[in-house]
Amino acid sequence: MSKNVLVLADVRDGELRNVALECLAAGTKAAEGGVVTAAVFGSQGKQLVEKLSHFGADQVIVVPNPQLDQYTTDAYFQAFKKVVEKVNPDIIFTGHTAFGRDVSPRVAARLDIGMVSDCTDVELADGRLIFTRPIYAGKAFVKKAFKEGTILATLRPNNIPALEADTSRSAVVEELEVELAADSLRTLVKDVVRKASDGVDLSEARIVISGGRGVKSEEGFQPLQELAEVLGAAVGASRGACDAGYCDYGLQIGQTGKVVTPDLYIACGISGAIQHLAGMSNSKVIVAINKDPEASIFSVADYGIVGDLFEVVPLLTEEFKKA
Ligand code: FAD
Repeated sequence: MSKNVLVLADVRDGELRNVALECLAAGTKAAEGGVVTAAVFGSQGKQLVEKLSHFGADQVIVVPNPQLDQYTTDAYFQAFKKVVEKVNPDIIFTGHTAFGRDVSPRVAARLDIGMVSDCTDVELADGRLIFTRPIYAGKAFVKKAFKEGTILATLRPNNIPALEADTSRSAVVEELEVELAADSLRTLVKDVVRKASDGVDLSEARIVISGGRGVKSEEGFQPLQELAEVLGAAVGASRGACDAGYCDYGLQIGQTGKVVTPDLYIACGISGAIQHLAGMSNSKVIVAINKDPEASIFSVADYGIVGDLFEVVPLLTEEFKKA
């Protein structure tokens, strides 16, 4: 039976994030021939309509208020709620990103919608949607299905491949005016200051090079940065490295940091504590570099190199430069 699907597109710096396209792929599968509507917020929303339609949206609702150019909980909550009320979807998808994690439970609670978060897969079985999500900090996965009612699901980035772009597609476009009264917005973003090192987005990166306490200092991250530049990778870290002051907490991967699912994860000088594994063990290929052959990181690694990271990482950089 066809379903009415809504995708709330995750936008950063005026660009669609990959996870928005991944949500459209999940939405197309879940719709079973029904309509997939994408909603996009902010004054640059109209410029994103074409890409949304190429990647699976049949209909796009643009909410063009400039108050939605930067994420704030109150503004996005009001706009998201309004779009849900208008579309009356059976299923809603958005990214399991900082924004999706913040606004989704609020909307689900207010509209009395069932919610499943951090999904790594969505499949159809006997006309039912089955959602897969990690439990026990990623040690196991559970499959969930809903008996009835509207479902709101957040999708973990990098798990469901986006559809191939079909440039012949064009969506029906509608603008929706949402009145956001100034006194209903408790926060106002005046400026967003990003760190200069913010290159590849860690949560969507295809390759992540991570450093642990084994890098020994802030300067110890330099060889990792060089390898990352050659591979077009993002640099991450364990909490051990963050706590030691070697890097910013924005790089932390794990239970209390970011969750990443890259194609390749290279762990350098990381012991492999359960809390770190919770953030990276779903990576497709894991390479561990550690001096200690007994380090637990080797139990999840596809390839292990027992050695000093300060010798191994520069050698890898040299080899990849030649490739
Ligand atoms: P260590 O455990 O000290 O390991 C350093 C490793 O480097 C060792 O295995 C050593 O053999 C190796 N090494 C040293 N020198 C070299 C060298 N020259 N070359 C190669 N290898 C070398 N941790 C996270 O990462 N993310 C989280 O989100 C997180 N959340 C937590 C939440 C809670 C509630 C708690 C209690 C802990 C959390 N932790 C988290 C901390 C976690 O338990 C570990 O303490 C932390 O991951 C250890 O970091 P590490 O592996 O870098 O350091």
